[in-house]
Amino acid sequence: MNRRDNMCFKVVGKIPQYLDGEMSEFEIPIFLEHVEHCHKCLEKYEIEKTFKEAVRQKCERKAVNGQLVNSIKNKISMLLAKG
Ligand SMILES: [Zn+2]
Repeated sequence: MNRRDNMCFKVVGKIPQYLDGEMSEFEIPIFLEHVEHCHKCLEKYEIEKTFKEAVRQKCERKAVNGQLVNSIKNKISMLLAKG
């Protein structure tokens, strides 16, 4: 493994941290600079980002469904309480 590959290995491993906003301020510029100049890492970054966004959208949809279920439950319990 040469130096560049080693750097790629580190950068790819840190993509989730960056996307989650958990990367330290010190690391962000190093990360971005590498991704900007390294096609291989940029590609992996784009894939990871797209994947994360898809997951997030799914979770948001689930949250909406959860709210709907709760409001229906509330209505039912209100009706039951009225008796
Ligand atoms: Zn790289």
